[in-house]
Amino acid sequence: MPIGGKKQLPIAHEKETAIVVSSLSGREWDVSGSWNRMFESRVLSDYSYAGLGKVAALEGGESLEFCYGCGKCIPVCPVDLVAEYGPRKIHRKVQTGMDLFSSDDLWKCTTCGNCLRVCPKEVNMIKIMPAVREVAMEAGSVPDELQVVFEKTFRYGNALGENPRRRHSWTKGAGVDVPVLGNDPRHVDVLFYVEDYWSFHPRGQQAAQAFARLLTLAGVDFAILGAEEKTLGDSQRLAGERGLFESLMEDAVATLSKYEFDRIVTPDPHGYNALVKEYPKHGHSFPSLHYTQLLADLVGRLPIKNPLNKKVTFHDPCYLGRHNGEYDAPRTLINAIPGVEYLEMGRCRENSYCCGGGGGGMWLDGFNSNHLSERLSERRVREAAATGADILAVCCPYEVSRFEDAAKSTGNEQLQVLDIAEMLDIAVGGLDAVEAMMAESR
Ligand code: SF4
Ligand code: SF4
Repeated sequence: MPIGGKKQLPIAHEKETAIVVSSLSGREWDVSGSWNRMFESRVLSDYSYAGLGKVAALEGGESLEFCYGCGKCIPVCPVDLVAEYGPRKIHRKVQTGMDLFSSDDLWKCTTCGNCLRVCPKEVNMIKIMPAVREVAMEAGSVPDELQVVFEKTFRYGNALGENPRRRHSWTKGAGVDVPVLGNDPRHVDVLFYVEDYWSFHPRGQQAAQAFARLLTLAGVDFAILGAEEKTLGDSQRLAGERGLFESLMEDAVATLSKYEFDRIVTPDPHGYNALVKEYPKHGHSFPSLHYTQLLADLVGRLPIKNPLNKKVTFHDPCYLGRHNGEYDAPRTLINAIPGVEYLEMGRCRENSYCCGGGGGGMWLDGFNSNHLSERLSERRVREAAATGADILAVCCPYEVSRFEDAAKSTGNEQLQVLDIAEMLDIAVGGLDAVEAMMAESR
């Protein structure tokens, strides 16, 4: 059957008898009937190449046509557990006529990377989806709620649409001095790149305050950019807004170039991914760490003394773990707290489930509520609760609010969601520890 031709039903020629002779025993086996269809030439496919060709022609879209249908990606795709999804299914749907550019399926992938981990053909949804989304976006075919976030990011430099002058309002509640580089331009060891949800979301602000206290207790020379900071925009890039990402990158590079620092430390695995993977592609290299990596190095300098006496489980963020290979730093920190009984979830580390927030999913909960049987965060909270844990520890700014909402909506209010910075802050004694340190130094 010529590819792209008119659909024809396969013609199967039944033979009256079909005898196969065993090469071992010499015995003859009669495989007449439906079995002998295997011995006739058959039409294996009757699809058009047009859809696949359109995706494969895009820079980044090439690998969709590599799929040979082995199906390994389906059991590991977090979306397939709440919808019919995964690269093999997308590939088949496109083969049989689905226009991915206008399909709802385009927005369900969180770019979690679990399919790529197992795919023998390296079908790469982390490149395919942003490439197709970019074309869809240019054609105006974007879910409304995502479009709103793109516009807020473009206008205000943050996904929440907050006034940039409020970027460092969280510092007022930290109880420690949080210098802003613009007010005091000097060389610092750590440039704390706070990112959007630790800057503006009330629960994120609590984690930012806890982290600032930990840095102070560990004697780290640090500062922030304050109102000069804009989001690094990696999730916007993965959601299809590459142009916006590149414009944010130019702004960030111009700002960072004004100051002297040894390394950037960010709480956001998406921002961290941008700094270590995307910026170097454009010729910009800044030594960068996720905040758990910095704290894991400093943990011996923290006066950790208060036992937590809780069962704790941990959710690996896709863009810290699977995408950037850091699984140990968060676990080192959790297990450094006395009185922690650590419980691992079945899906963890390389095979961790996704919270649903990556690749623009953070801003698609409304859209996804019409397409998924439950939110990915709800499914993950059920897994966390099933361990018997009291606390679900997280280290991505998207996750505290996502999982707290999911704990409520699934009736698991007993499960407390805490950032690892908050847990460590409790273990060192929070503001009291900082005040005691200051009193000692007087
Ligand atoms: S694992 Fe790769 S090759 Fe196998 S079905 Fe999935 S996308 Fe196709
Ligand atoms: S990247 Fe994750 S969500 Fe997207 S198709 Fe692959 S496994 Fe599914």
